[in-house]
Amino acid sequence: MSSRNFVFWEVDTQVDFMLPGGKLYVPGAEKLLPNIRRLTDAARQGRVFLVSHGCYHAEDDPEFKTFPPHCVKGTAGSAVVPEGLTEKIVTVANEPLAALPHDLLQFDQILLEKQSLDIFESRHAEQLVQRFGPAVEFVVFGVVTEYCVRLAAKGLLDRHRPSPRAARRSEVTERLRRRGGMSSPPPFPGAQYEKILPSAVSSSGRISTGFQHSRD
Ligand SMILES: [Zn+2]
Repeated sequence: MSSRNFVFWEVDTQVDFMLPGGKLYVPGAEKLLPNIRRLTDAARQGRVFLVSHGCYHAEDDPEFKTFPPHCVKGTAGSAVVPEGLTEKIVTVANEPLAALPHDLLQFDQILLEKQSLDIFESRHAEQLVQRFGPAVEFVVFGVVTEYCVRLAAKGLLDRHRPSPRAARRSEVTERLRRRGGMSSPPPFPGAQYEKILPSAVSSSGRISTGFQHSRD
């Protein structure tokens, strides 16, 4: 591992979301795969550290009252797509006895398991962000923009160098709220945030749905 001034933050790039036939397939998500590969290549090459998180649900998970069953832990649908996985990965379950590794830097990637939309409701995300310190820059990408990506970006903005960005963050959340996404999420695919979220967040952070890199 070399420079880790950038942390790439990968959201829910799992089979059930990404591939046609997945239990909660996001239409068109498979088109992101080449760009997800390019983004995660940066971690394989030691240029960034890669944080990933995804759903790992029980068969009777309460989330299935809101969303169709998906990403049941241990099923093929819960697997992160190969494009999103490096070889030097450590997985941390959202369980009391699980812990972050003492030395993150021996890995290229950490995968946090979650059971709710917001990764920051799981046990280890907060501590993980603290570990990186104030100097790193986070780059968020994955699916779905208006759900878990939005919550991850908001959670990072809330925790990472919050004071200079507080005003902008308020503006971002207000714009999202006005679009109805905060209290009553639109049904899938509900892609209206594809356009507004990147521009809204770009002044205070950086977010990628994966599409923006297609012309690189
Ligand atoms: Zn889920």
